[in-house]
Amino acid sequence: MAKKQQYGHTCAFCGGPTSPDAALVPSPLDTNVCICTDCINQINELMEDYKPSKGNARKDAVTMDKVPTPREIHDFLNLYVIGQDDAKKYLSVAVYNHYKRLTQLNDSAENDVDIEKSNIIIVGPTGTGKTLLAKTIARLLDVPFTIVDATVLTEAGYVGEDIESLLTRLLQAADYDVTKAERGIVFIDEIDKIARKGDNPSITRDVSGEGVQQGLLKLLEGSIVNVPPQGGRKHPEQKMIPVDTKNILFICGGAFDGIERKIAQRLNTHVVGYSTDANKQKIQRDNYLQYVAPQDLKSFGLIPEIIGRLPILTHLNPLNRDALLRVLTEPKNAITRQYQKMLKMDGVELKFDSDALELVVDKAIEYKLGARGLRSIVESIMVDAMYSLPGSGTTELTITREYALEQIRKANFETDSVV
Ligand code: ADP
Repeated sequence: MAKKQQYGHTCAFCGGPTSPDAALVPSPLDTNVCICTDCINQINELMEDYKPSKGNARKDAVTMDKVPTPREIHDFLNLYVIGQDDAKKYLSVAVYNHYKRLTQLNDSAENDVDIEKSNIIIVGPTGTGKTLLAKTIARLLDVPFTIVDATVLTEAGYVGEDIESLLTRLLQAADYDVTKAERGIVFIDEIDKIARKGDNPSITRDVSGEGVQQGLLKLLEGSIVNVPPQGGRKHPEQKMIPVDTKNILFICGGAFDGIERKIAQRLNTHVVGYSTDANKQKIQRDNYLQYVAPQDLKSFGLIPEIIGRLPILTHLNPLNRDALLRVLTEPKNAITRQYQKMLKMDGVELKFDSDALELVVDKAIEYKLGARGLRSIVESIMVDAMYSLPGSGTTELTITREYALEQIRKANFETDSVV
């Protein structure tokens, strides 16, 4: 049936054949319409990559007996993340339900009631644990997981990355196993950065705001998306991998700076945050964020369609002094433990006096660095010791408040930076 290229015949797909060995296969309906063997091979390869979820569900089916319960997921999160109980509860239930949804794929006979996915949005100030929660969940799960940043995205055709490239990272996390990727979890960070830039969307084209939100819609609700395997921008010659997003769970996170004012407005109260008392303003934020509702996200600039596709809304609390102290010492990979482990490799036992740790927290609060700043402060305290101790024969080091203060001052003075 296949024949070498004949005069007047070209492949209806590629216009070729492009290689000398390729033969043309005519259509049974019209012998003037041909496809070349190069294209057939390419399609075969594509079909290898793309296996629709239902058809392959039995290959590595998810069964509920292997799945941790919401309580177990919560307990696991407690090992790494301080506080944030509300968010932990929502996330544990959402992840557990995600597994339930995956088990329903195993048996199509029981599919009379479809469990739809419930994507999540987490609102919380920067440095309070959004990414940490997502990463910790990833440790626990055996589904592919990836964290992507919404700030790099732009509407198709503009400078920046196409929205589909979000799924490239998931494909990579799944070793390009499409079936696996189609059950994965994507954490989209900084979702607030794609909020609509102004109230009137028609003034200028908002290619990194509303345009991206429109593009995200089809990913969130579930559709077959052509993903560039290497990410970045799509171009015509690139081979695309079709991915069905129906069972991919999306968790979005954002700081939504200033949203507490919108919440306050909605609650018909005045933000006392305009007062000079910084602490008062903080308390306002503490108080208001917990009342966050979908309409506040809309006032902030998310379009209603996106909000509708993120039905689970939860918040993170700012970390107070106590919480910051706990962050320093309690999590399984707490900062102080990391330095203790490092110095142990040099045969040095490291101890921190409790008032030295309090100083670290106070400085983090003073410089408004939050939990994110704890590490850089401890680093500035430890750098001299980490430089001079190896090979010195010292076997013990206790960080006192005085020593810590001296090191912090030194770092301030020498680097002229915050810490
Ligand atoms: P964001 O909310 O901006 O995503 P991250 O989760 O990246 O913040 O937090 C930055 C760092 O601060 C983390 O790597 C972690 O060390 C620390 N941290 C923040 N919040 C918590 C928390 N609730 N419990 C423990 N550590 C935290």
